[in-house]
Amino acid sequence: MTATNHSITAANLALITKTWWILPIALVSHFVLDALPHFGSTKGKDVDKKFIVVYTIDFILLCSLWLIVLLVTGHFRYLVIAAMTAAALPDVVWIYRLTLKLRKKIVPKKNILTRFHTAIQWGERSWGWTIELGWLSVMAVIFISLVRSIG
Ligand SMILES: [Zn+2]
Repeated sequence: MTATNHSITAANLALITKTWWILPIALVSHFVLDALPHFGSTKGKDVDKKFIVVYTIDFILLCSLWLIVLLVTGHFRYLVIAAMTAAALPDVVWIYRLTLKLRKKIVPKKNILTRFHTAIQWGERSWGWTIELGWLSVMAVIFISLVRSIG
């Protein structure tokens, strides 16, 4: 899933529980969401036009979400930011691998965690952005209601 969807889901988990033990669960939530059908290239290309469009929008939405969280979650802001970071963290490996591949033409061998991370993403589809948008909409509604209850 997109970084925005991983992050807003973790933000909601943090705002529901309001405790630091949510951090490992936020990390695990990454793999649960990745196991659902979502956006991804299935044409074998690393980067195509749709990939650039979706991840540019994702980056803008993620920056906006961080700003919104900092402004509206009051004294829970550090917990929410930590949960969002934990939930998005596993995908740093893909940025690292793609950077190596594009710049140095080197593809590092996948370790057991990276192989697991690849295997669970059976549902990557080029039209999966529609699912991402639906998920984001539901999470945004939940986020707004949770923020309103902070008081
Ligand atoms: Zn992932």
